[in-house]
Amino acid sequence: MKFTEEQDMLRDMVRRVADEKVRPLVAEMEETKRFPEELVEVFGDLGLLQMWVPESYGGPGGDLTSVCIAKEEIGRASLAASTLCANNSIGLILPLLHFGTEAQKQRYLTEAARGRTISAVAITEPEAGSDVSAIRTTARRDGDSYVINGQKSWITWAAQANYMLLFARTAEGRGHEGISVFLVDTKTPGLKIGRKEVKMGRHGSPTYQVFFENMRIDADCLLGEEGSGFKACMKILDLNRPSVAASSLGLAQAALDESVNYSKDRRQFGKRIADFQAIQFKLADMAMKVEAARTLLYSSTQEIDSGDTSRLTLLSSMVKCYVTDVAMDVALEAVQVHGSYGYSTEYPVERFMRDAKLNQILEGTNEIHRVIIARQLLGK
Ligand SMILES: Cc1cc2nc3c(=O)[nH]c(=O)nc-3n(C[C@H](O)[C@H](O)[C@H](O)COP(=O)(O)OP(=O)(O)OC[C@H]3O[C@@H](n4cnc5c(N)ncnc54)[C@H](O)[C@@H]3O)c2cc1C
Repeated sequence: MKFTEEQDMLRDMVRRVADEKVRPLVAEMEETKRFPEELVEVFGDLGLLQMWVPESYGGPGGDLTSVCIAKEEIGRASLAASTLCANNSIGLILPLLHFGTEAQKQRYLTEAARGRTISAVAITEPEAGSDVSAIRTTARRDGDSYVINGQKSWITWAAQANYMLLFARTAEGRGHEGISVFLVDTKTPGLKIGRKEVKMGRHGSPTYQVFFENMRIDADCLLGEEGSGFKACMKILDLNRPSVAASSLGLAQAALDESVNYSKDRRQFGKRIADFQAIQFKLADMAMKVEAARTLLYSSTQEIDSGDTSRLTLLSSMVKCYVTDVAMDVALEAVQVHGSYGYSTEYPVERFMRDAKLNQILEGTNEIHRVIIARQLLGK
């Protein structure tokens, strides 16, 4: 793939950051499951938290391809840290750029541009996972305020975030047309952080239950029109999903690299295991999948960045589904190439396997993406 000179420089810079600042934290993140707060400053100082904030608001600018390059490079070292990289894209920047008023943009984008802001996105509820239209959290208009009541589940960064993009119901009985979206300061009284989820992987990127008990917010926290939240949600997710895939691509590349290196070191039957055709074929298959995933990802982001969004939904679902499936396949094969050592925490491939699973589930499960792709093909 051909990238611009700035994008090549970005890749080099982020690769160095991944090696020097992220990699040394990985073992501790795995053991303690601690959120690496020091990375906020590291990423913020380099513009990696606030990618996409336009220069006119004090940000570094950037486009989808650049966000994906950064997330891919951090993803080679750690999927958890890659989730923090460009964290504000979905929670703050894209919603404001597409649905915010000028006053909202001035206030929040200018703050995000300083590189110390973290945001969370609160869509999922105990009874509303894939079916976003089943959201029950309510936002009742009361004069110049909305009063929020309800519960969210699986909210990443909820306890660390300064702001939360909250999807809540402003009209009963209207399905997805009754959903609105709000930008909420997480210090608002009535917002309570619940249980921290115990997860299989992506340690270092914590996820929580969140409760809203008569949380009163100003009416100007509403983004866009009342009832436009579902459409906004779909658009923001479409624009963000390729970057989730980019994290998985980094993971897949790392799993392939580890497997190539290990197969050249490990000897059995008097030979390197790399000399067995069975292992060579695995490596060849892994490499073909990674290359195909990279090509699909960046040809799609370049099409979207060119301003042609006629295939946005289709490409976004294809990229998310295909690349995250590739990462899962490649991580599984990496464990197999490593034999028993692949099953041990001494090598990173078991972590890749656990982490790869997650991206097949979040930001729309890969089953839902296949449904979306089929609908686009069949014209439904
Ligand atoms: C670690 C982690 C972090 C997360 N972070 C966030 C976050 O920050 N913010 C947030 O809002 N959410 C977050 N989520 C939630 C995540 O987005 C949801 O888990 C996801 O959308 C799937 O919803 P569900 O788990 O309720 O699965 P369900 O919707 O209950 O699905 C269960 C199974 O049924 C399948 N299925 C459901 N409906 C269909 C259908 N129509 N056709 C075919 N198959 C179907 C699914 O594909 C899946 O295999 C996170 C989840 C995890 C695990």
